[in-house]
Amino acid sequence: MKRRVTRALGLAIRGTLRSAALVVPAAQETFLQSAHKALEWARIDSFLGNRSSPALASHRPCPVCGSIRSKNVFELTDFQFYCDSAEVPKRLNVRDDFCLDCFAVYMNPCFTPYGFSVLAAEAGRSYGSSEGRPDEQIGWLNERALLAPGARVLDIGCFDGAFLARLPSHTRKFGVDIDAPAIERARAVHAEKSIHFTVGDFETFEFNEEAPDTITVLMVLEHLPRPTEVLRKLRSISHANTKLVVEIPVVERGPTNDINGFFATLHTTHFSRQTLAICMLRAGWRIEQATNQPDYNGYRVVASPCEPVSLVSKNVEDLTSVNRSLERWHVAVREAEARLRAPAAAGRWVVWGAGGHTEFLYQVTTLFHADGDELFALVDSDTLKHGKSWRGVPIHSPDVLRDVDWSRTNLLVSSYGGQESITKAALALGVPAERIVTLYDQVHRC
Ligand SMILES: [Zn+2]
Repeated sequence: MKRRVTRALGLAIRGTLRSAALVVPAAQETFLQSAHKALEWARIDSFLGNRSSPALASHRPCPVCGSIRSKNVFELTDFQFYCDSAEVPKRLNVRDDFCLDCFAVYMNPCFTPYGFSVLAAEAGRSYGSSEGRPDEQIGWLNERALLAPGARVLDIGCFDGAFLARLPSHTRKFGVDIDAPAIERARAVHAEKSIHFTVGDFETFEFNEEAPDTITVLMVLEHLPRPTEVLRKLRSISHANTKLVVEIPVVERGPTNDINGFFATLHTTHFSRQTLAICMLRAGWRIEQATNQPDYNGYRVVASPCEPVSLVSKNVEDLTSVNRSLERWHVAVREAEARLRAPAAAGRWVVWGAGGHTEFLYQVTTLFHADGDELFALVDSDTLKHGKSWRGVPIHSPDVLRDVDWSRTNLLVSSYGGQESITKAALALGVPAERIVTLYDQVHRC
C-alpha cells in the first residue's frame, strides 16, 4: 500500500532524476561500473555534503480542523531521506504534532511540494509491494455494488493505471495523478482500454466529465498536505449519490514490531477513525460503512455527500492510541538493539537495505555509533542506488556479497517486510548463516 502512494505522489521528478543519473561523464561511468564489482568500505558519516533547507518544509495549521494549537509528540532530528547528495538538501527534522482541538496527529512543519519531490524521489523501492491487494480491493468494491455496469469510477492517485485497468470492463474509468510521466505510460499501456487519464493536482484538477458514481482514494490521503481541501474538491465534482471510498492507515492499529513504527516519515497526517470522520464531514462527506482490513493496518470507508459540518466531537482515546503506538515502537527498538548486540563483534558490517529502515537504525539504535572504527558497506537490489552512498557508505549490488571475507564481517538484514526474502537471497549468495543478523522474530504484513 505504501508503495502505491509513493508511486502516486513522490515520483513526479523521479523520471527526471533517473534521466540525469544516466548522463554521466565517461570517467564517472567507469566508477559506477566498478562499484558493482568491488566492495568498498567506509566509516559512517564520511560524506560531508548533506544538508537541510528551509525550502523543504513549512509550518501549517492542523490539516483536519484548521487549528494552530498543537503540542509535539514525536521527533527525529536530521533525518536523511535516502542517498547522499551534494546538490539537493536531503535532511529534515521530522516532527509530528498533536492538535489540541481535534486530536489529529500531523507532520509539522510539512513537506512543501519541492520538499516532497526531493525527499520522496528515491522512496519507491524502499517499500515492499503488496501483491494481491488490488484484487482484494476490487472484490470489496464489487461486494458493495460500487462497480455496477456503466458505473463511472474515478481513481485519485491512479499512477500508471494498473488498478483501473483491472476493474470490470463494464465500468467507465477515470484516473488522476500529479505524476505526468506515469500518466503518459498509463495512456500508452492502456490505450485500448478506453480509460480517461488526467494529469493534475488533486485539489485543482480539471474534470469536465459527467460526475463519477464511485471515487476511490486508496492509501493516498495520509500523504496529502491539505486532505480536507482535496475531499472538498471531490465533493464539488460529485452528484448526490456518488460514493467515496477512502482507505488509510489508522493510529488505533498503529502498534507494530517494525522499527519504522506507525509514524511513517512520508505520512503527513496520522489519522484515527475519529479524525478521518471529522476531516470528511468538514469536507461534506458522511461515512456510512467502515471496515478494518484483516491483515494490515488499513481502514476502509464508504461515504456519501452531506452538508459540510464544522463542529464535530473529538475522541479523547486518540492520544491513548498514539501512546500505544509509541510504546510498542520503543519495545521494537529495544528488541532490535538486542539483536544487533548478539553476534560476535567482527569490525565490519554489510547492511542489506539502503532505504528508510537503515536510516531508522541510524536514528534510534547504536549500530552506527558503537565503535568509531567499524567499517560499513551497503547492498540494495534497487539498481538506481548502485554507485551512490548513504551517510558516506557506498551502495552496491548484492552480487558483491559473493566476494566478501565473512570471517571478519556480519551481514545485517535491514528490512521489515523483506526480511525473509533477503535472508534467502543472502544464503544463495554464499553468506554463512551464522553471519546473517535479522531484527524480527515475526514479520506481519503491513
Ligand atoms: Zn485539529
